[in-house]
Amino acid sequence: MTLDATHDPALRSWVPAAQVAGTDFPIQNLPLGAFVLGEGQAARLGVAIGDRILDLTRAAESGLLDGLHTAVVEACAAESLTPLLATGRGGLKALRGRVSALLNAEGAEGARARVVGALTVAMADVQMVLPATIGDYTDFYASIDHATNVGSMFRPDNPLLPNYRHVPIGYHGRASSIVVSGTPVRRPQGQTAAKPEGPPTFGPSARMDYELEVGAFIASGNVLGNTIPLGEAEHFLGGLVLVNDWSARDLQSWEYQPLGPFLAKNFATTVSPWVVTLDALAPFRLPARARGSDEPTPLPYLDDAHDRNAGGFGLTLEVWLRTAAMRETGEAAVRLSHGDFTRMYWTLGQLLTHHASNGCNLRPGDLIASGTVSGPTKESRGSMLELAWRGTEPITLPNGETRAFLADGDEVILRGWCERAGAVRIGLGECRGVLLAAE
Ligand code: MN
Repeated sequence: MTLDATHDPALRSWVPAAQVAGTDFPIQNLPLGAFVLGEGQAARLGVAIGDRILDLTRAAESGLLDGLHTAVVEACAAESLTPLLATGRGGLKALRGRVSALLNAEGAEGARARVVGALTVAMADVQMVLPATIGDYTDFYASIDHATNVGSMFRPDNPLLPNYRHVPIGYHGRASSIVVSGTPVRRPQGQTAAKPEGPPTFGPSARMDYELEVGAFIASGNVLGNTIPLGEAEHFLGGLVLVNDWSARDLQSWEYQPLGPFLAKNFATTVSPWVVTLDALAPFRLPARARGSDEPTPLPYLDDAHDRNAGGFGLTLEVWLRTAAMRETGEAAVRLSHGDFTRMYWTLGQLLTHHASNGCNLRPGDLIASGTVSGPTKESRGSMLELAWRGTEPITLPNGETRAFLADGDEVILRGWCERAGAVRIGLGECRGVLLAAE
C-alpha cells in the first residue's frame, strides 16, 4: 500500500474548514457518500471536505472529471456508490487523485474547480442517505476480547470455544434493515424467556444494546465459485464505515441456539454515511495482531506475509451516549468506551478471504462488518452487555442516571479516526441513532 501525492501532509484545500484542527475530513481523506438536497429529490454522490461536500454529479457535468475512465465518470452520476465501488480499487484511486487536485488550494485544477458554481454544498444543508445499495451483509465476530467477554458470561470456565482461533466466525445479517446514521431505531418486540428452558412471552425487548463495529464495503466482487486469495483480498475492499449492530440481548439468548442470531439483530443496523477508502487509510496501516506462542498459526489460506505485516488499521474507536434527560438539560454526550481496531484477532482481509473460501460470491456494495470491537480493559468494551456485564454491574452516568441496557430516548454515537506522527489525522465521522420506544 503505497503513499502518493494525495497523502502529502502539506496539501491544503480551498475549502477553509478542511484545515480546521481535528476535522475528520481534511483533503487527505476524501471519503465518498450519498446525499439528497431536499425531500423527495434523487440522491447524489459526493466527497466530504471539511464542512462541505464536493458534488460529483456537478463535477462530472462541468467537465472536471474529463479524462477519467468512462465507467468512473458515469458512476459518479449514479444515486448510490455501488457502481463506483464496482470500478474497483483502480477506479476509486483514479477518482481520488482527480478530486484531490480539484480541491487543492494550489494548482491549475484547483483554480479551475473553485470558480465552478455550486460545485460544493454545505453538509448542514443536505441529508445523507445510505452510501451504497447493499445487496448482502455479513457480520463477523473478529475481536477475541469480545468473544472472551461474552463467552465467559455463559461459560466462565471455558469462555472461548475451540474453533475461535482457527475459523473466523460470522453470520449472514440482513441488508434491508441497514439504515444511515441519524435514522431513529425502534425498540423491537419479540419472544423472551426469563428462564433458559422457558416458557417465553412476547413483548418489547428489555435488554437493548449497541455493538461498536467497523464495516467494509466490497468494491470488486468475485464470480460465484471462485475464491479470493488473501494476498489479493484488499483489492476487493472499497472502504470503511462505522457500524452499530443494534442487538436485543433477551431475544438473542432465547433464539440463538442452534442456528445463531436472527430477530435479535435484523431489526436495524446503522452505518455512518462516509466511506473512507482503503487508499485514504494507507498511512495508517499496521501489522495484524501477532499470534502468541500458545496460539495456532492460521491455516495456509488465512496466512499471508503482507497481511501479517500490514493487515491492521491504526483506528481509534469510541462509543458515546446521550440520554433523553441529558438532551433536555443540554448536557453533552458522555463517552462510554474507547477501543483500538488493531487488537482484532482476524484482519478484514482474512474475513473477506474466508467468506469467499467456499466460492461464495461477494458483490460490489456488499457490506462485511468486523463484529464488536472490544479490548482487554473495561474501558475498551464495545457493547453495554460487556460494560455492565450482562446487567449485573450497571454503569452510572455523570447526571446520576444508571444503565444496565439502553433506555428509550438514548442516543448512541460511534466515532472513529486515524492519527499518527507524520500524517494528517483523518476520521470516519459519526454513526448516530436514537432508540425509540416499542411500537
Ligand atoms: Mn455484531
